[in-house]
Amino acid sequence: MDANKKWLALPKDIRSQLLNNVWCSNCSDVTMIVGFIVENEDFGIILNGKCKKCDHEVARVVEME
Ligand SMILES: [Zn+2]
Repeated sequence: MDANKKWLALPKDIRSQLLNNVWCSNCSDVTMIVGFIVENEDFGIILNGKCKKCDHEVARVVEME
């Protein structure tokens, strides 16, 4: 299944929760991921994008069954 479809199959509130809870190593803080792409990963999907605050690259793994 297409990674993007898996992502969009998640409930909207879950998705926004995940997007707003991404660790940025540059900010040393939780941030929002922006401008991301969704790719397949061993245990689910991974979002690759940038920190909203500082533009540093961040990623968020979303485990799926
Ligand atoms: Zn940052």
